Amino acid sequence: MPLIPINMREGTLARSDDVIVGIDLGTTNSLVAYIKDGKPYCIRDAAGKHALVPSIVHFTPDGQMLVGDAAREKLVSDPANTIYSVKRLMGKSYRDVADIQDFFGYQILDDNTESLVKIRVRDRFFTPIELSAEILRALKQRAERELGRAITKAVITVPAYFNDNQRQATRDAGRLAGLDVLRIVNEPTAAALAYGIGLDPTHSETIAVYDLGGGTFDISILKIHQGIFEVLSTHGDTFLGGDDFDRLLAQLLLQKAGFTADVVLSDKAIGQAIRLQAERVKKALSSSEVVDTEVLGKTVRVQREEFEQQIEPLIQRTLECCASALRDARLQPADIEKVVLVGGSTRVPIIKRRVAEFFGRTPFDSLDPDEVVALGAAVQADILAGNQRDLLLLDVTPLSLGIETLGGLMDVIIPRNSKIPIRASRQYTTSVDGQKNLKIAVYQGERDLVQHNRKLGEFILSGIPPMPAGLPKIEVVFLINADGILTVRARELRSGIEQQIEIRPAYGLTEEEMARMLMDSITHAAEDMQVRALQEARNEAQTLLLAGEKFLQQNDLSLSEIEKSTIRSLLTSLQEAAKGEDKDCIQTAIQALNDYTTPLAHRAMDAVIQEAMRGKKIS
Ligand code: ADP
Ligand code: MG
Repeated sequence: MPLIPINMREGTLARSDDVIVGIDLGTTNSLVAYIKDGKPYCIRDAAGKHALVPSIVHFTPDGQMLVGDAAREKLVSDPANTIYSVKRLMGKSYRDVADIQDFFGYQILDDNTESLVKIRVRDRFFTPIELSAEILRALKQRAERELGRAITKAVITVPAYFNDNQRQATRDAGRLAGLDVLRIVNEPTAAALAYGIGLDPTHSETIAVYDLGGGTFDISILKIHQGIFEVLSTHGDTFLGGDDFDRLLAQLLLQKAGFTADVVLSDKAIGQAIRLQAERVKKALSSSEVVDTEVLGKTVRVQREEFEQQIEPLIQRTLECCASALRDARLQPADIEKVVLVGGSTRVPIIKRRVAEFFGRTPFDSLDPDEVVALGAAVQADILAGNQRDLLLLDVTPLSLGIETLGGLMDVIIPRNSKIPIRASRQYTTSVDGQKNLKIAVYQGERDLVQHNRKLGEFILSGIPPMPAGLPKIEVVFLINADGILTVRARELRSGIEQQIEIRPAYGLTEEEMARMLMDSITHAAEDMQVRALQEARNEAQTLLLAGEKFLQQNDLSLSEIEKSTIRSLLTSLQEAAKGEDKDCIQTAIQALNDYTTPLAHRAMDAVIQEAMRGKKIS
C-alpha cells in the first residue's frame, strides 16, 4: 500500500508528488516523457540531445546488454545478437509469427508452437516481455537521471489494435522493469491528447490519426465525446513504414552508382550499411530538394522528386487503408474534423501533402511526430496523478460480451460501447434436475447465435449441489478493468461455490475482423431475430415438456385416464412441433398444452393445499 501523506496543519491529504511518466514503447523507437512546468516534455539523453531510444537490445560476447543507440550500431556488425522490432512478438505464439520469421535477423525459437515465442541469443533464451523490459528499464533510468529520484509509475502506450494478450505482455514488461503500469493507453488516443484534443468534455468530435512509423502503418478513426475516446475503426499494414522507404532508396542509390542492387543487398552486412545510409539520405531529403552522397566509393545525387516517385505505391497503400477505415466507421473524409500526424515517416513532405489532400484539411503537425505519442502518454499520466481534476478518460468496449445460453443463444452481459472499467452481472439457472456442472462459455460479438460470434474462453462451474432444474441461482459477473482485460466469475448463490477466469484470448482480433463482425450483425439482423425467436420457443417447449412429464408422474393417482392420455398427446404434438422450424407452430402447441393443463394444475394444487390444511388441524 502506498503511504498517503497528510498535511497536519490543515488536516488535508497532501498530494503525492510521485511523478508518473508516459512511455511510448515503439517498434522502432521508444521515448519517455513527463509534465515539466505544466507542459509535456520528452526526456533527452545525457548529452541533452536525442529523445528517441532505438528499441534495440544487443548482447555483447561477455553477456552484457546494450540498449538504444549503442545497440543500433551493432545491427550491421552482429545482427544475430541484436534484437529489434521485439514489439512485433509481444503476446504472440510461434504459430502467430511463423509467416514473418524471415523478417527477423535473429533466431526465434520454434520448439513449442502453442506457447509464447522465445528468442535465442547464443545459449540463452528470452521472452519478448524480458527484452521489452530492458528497453523500459533504459527509459526508467533516463527519467531517474533527469528527475533525480526513483521512478516507479508509468503509463505505457500500445497500438489501438493490440489484443488482451499483447496489452498484458506490455504490462508484464513494465512490471519486470520495476514500473507500476497505471494504465495502458491507445497510441492514437495519446496522440490526440498531446494536441489537447479531447480535453474539453463539453465538446465532441471525430478525428483521424495517421501513424506512419519505421515498420508499421496505422490509421485510427476516433470519436471523442465527454472525455471518452471511442475507436470507431482502425486499419493499417504491419509491414509498411520508413524501413520500406529506406529499402527502395537503397536500391535507387545503388542503381545510380552503377551496381546491381540485388547482388549488393544480398550481403547482409553491406546491405544493412547501405540501408542505414539510405535512411540518412531520406531524412536529409525531408528538408532539402537535392542530396549528394557517396555510395561504395561513387558520388550520387538524388532529387526529392525521384524519392517521391519510388515511394508513391506505398503512399497509395496507406491512403487505401484510410479509405477502408472510413468505410468501416461509415464516414466520409469530410466527416473528419481533425487529422493528426504521428510517426517519424510523416516528416516526408509528400506524405503530409497527400494526407491533407485525402482528408481535405490541414493535419496537426506542429508537434514532433515521433514525440507526440509519448507527450500524450505524459498528459494521461498527469490526469491519473490527479493534477487535472475534472478529467476522466475512458475507453469503451468495441464489441458486446456475453455468454452462451440454452440452444446456443448469445446472452449479452456487457453491450458494445460500454465505458470501461465496468462490472455487470446476471443470474442464470440450470435446465436439468440435479445438474452438478454448468459450462460458462464467453463470447464476443453482435450476433444472436454464439456460433457466429467469437469465443473468448470457457470454464465449468462444478460442484453445484443437486437441486431441481431452475432452483440454483447462478450469478455470472463480468468485470473489465481499465486496461480492457475481462474477468468472468460464476457463483452459485445458495451454496456459495465459485469459479472464475481471466480472459486472455489466444489469438487477437484484427480491426478488419471486428468491423466485419459488426457489419454481419447488421446485415443478418432480421434473420438472427427469427433464429432467436425460434430458439427461444424451442427452449420454452423443452422446459414445458419436462414439467409436463413431472406433472404426470406426480399426479398419477388424481388424474383420470382421459386427462392423462390427452396430456400425453399434447406433449407429443409439442415435441414434434419443437423439432420443426416453425416457431408459430411451437407456440400454438405450447398454448394448447398450457390451456389444458392449467385448470388441472390448479385442481391438483387445491388438493395439496386441502391436504396441508387437514394436516394442520391438530385440535
Ligand atoms: P515507431 O513508431 O515504429 O517506433 P517512429 O515513429 O520513431 O517509429 O518512426 C521511425 C521512422 O521515421 C524511421 O523509419 C525513420 O527513418 C523515420 N524518420 C525519422 N525522421 C525522419 C525524417 N526527417 N524524414 C523521413 N523519415 C524520418
Ligand atoms: Mg510509434
